[in-house]
Amino acid sequence: MAIISKQTDILRTPQGLRRKILFIYALMLGIVLVIVNIYPVRIMERQIVDTARDNMLSDVTALSSILRQSSELSPDTISSAIGVLRLDEQNRRIIVTDPSGLVLYDSSSKNSVKGKVVVYAEIITALGGEDVFYCIHEEGAFDEWAAAPIMRGNLIEGAVYFYQQDVESAKLLGSVESNIRLVSFAALGLSIVAMLIFNRSLGKRFSALLVGVREAGSGNFNYRIKMKGSDELTQIAGEFNELSHRIQRSETARRQFVADASHELKTPLASIKLLSDSISQNKNISRDTVDEFLGDIGNEIDRLIRISEELIAINKADFTAEENYVCNMADTVERAADRLKIKAETAQVDLQVSCEGDCAVFATDDGIYHIVFNLIENAIKYNRKEGRVTVTLKRVEDNVVFTVEDTGIGIPLHEQKRVFERFFRVDKNRSRATGGTGLGLSIVKEWTDKLGGEITLKSTYGEGSVFKVVLPAYTGEAGV
Ligand code: ADP
Repeated sequence: MAIISKQTDILRTPQGLRRKILFIYALMLGIVLVIVNIYPVRIMERQIVDTARDNMLSDVTALSSILRQSSELSPDTISSAIGVLRLDEQNRRIIVTDPSGLVLYDSSSKNSVKGKVVVYAEIITALGGEDVFYCIHEEGAFDEWAAAPIMRGNLIEGAVYFYQQDVESAKLLGSVESNIRLVSFAALGLSIVAMLIFNRSLGKRFSALLVGVREAGSGNFNYRIKMKGSDELTQIAGEFNELSHRIQRSETARRQFVADASHELKTPLASIKLLSDSISQNKNISRDTVDEFLGDIGNEIDRLIRISEELIAINKADFTAEENYVCNMADTVERAADRLKIKAETAQVDLQVSCEGDCAVFATDDGIYHIVFNLIENAIKYNRKEGRVTVTLKRVEDNVVFTVEDTGIGIPLHEQKRVFERFFRVDKNRSRATGGTGLGLSIVKEWTDKLGGEITLKSTYGEGSVFKVVLPAYTGEAGV
């Protein structure tokens, strides 16, 4: 069998699918990158701000509660409170005001606002009696503000204000951010390359499938898809190749059958034409010859009718759907033997029939009749004068066994396999003389296969033949 492999069309065909896959991949990659770049950084930023808030608010309220206990708010008392809390060790600006916002203490000597009234939003909020924290992250630093009121009973005696700039945390966050970006760009590059390779290979494989389907569509069932691997696409390719192989086989068988059938129909038609031409063209033909020719024409027509009936039977075996019928095979055997009784008598053949046990099978009566009738008829046809045909039907465990044994002409060993082929005859002349078409045994075989059974032949040339059909017995309730 010629295996043709075509690589043309590849990469040209399923562009749409590949584009869609690329689009979905790019979309997903984009979403993943955005999440990976934004989410961890935002979480870390949130943690820095939360820690700063906790620290600053706890320090600012600690200082305010120490100052609340001082008899007066003076730079000295404020300095010593800051010293007690060790707040001067941190890089913060600390401002303490009186209730009017007048700065009593400023830790910054550079831009000191000591002695001035300040209107910082945080100080105003604190003088309103509330703790406050505020933070901005920009230009490589966290700017953090916190303020708390100094309360004595219900009286606000002043406010404590902290400001600090956290460059270290901002730097750390920045480096984490740029590292994540670096890693994600590297991963992006790698995955784009991997995706392009995968997409290209997927495209090639889909194209290979498409080429195969197109070839089959145009009637080339010799074409086989070549695909490596063991994934689903390879399995589809394998199934496709198997399907093509089966179609190719049945196509060959169909062509052979049509050729054989036409040949078989042509022979009797040619005889009819020849005989009728002889009658019409020969003016001096005698009445006896005309009668003889008309008899031959009648025989050829009978033959044509038999061929067409058997072709219909083959078609039925091919296309009859499995039907839920239970057939009592003993009845069918008795009926077929009854019809063939006269034929056996005419041929001077002794026909013996014996049926034993429950011989129900799951089949249509039509199919069983074809099997039984053809085998008994052949055993009579291909027998000799004073010969014998022994038909037995019995139940053997889960099977029904039907045997037709004859003492006829037998079949040569090398022909035995071929007798089930359509239109095959061992002795063409004898078969033709007995009205044979060469289709009977092929019909028997098709029905037997269809019913899940098996047919075997044992024959000795010149002595006789035994055909044995084994069918699965019907074991359920009868009358389904
Ligand atoms: P046909 O219509 O020619 O009988 P079949 O398909 O029934 O066609 O049989 C195929 C050939 O097998 C016959 O032509 C005949 O040569 C041979 N054959 C079938 N049955 C027997 C038999 N019982 N004994 C000897 N030859 C047989």
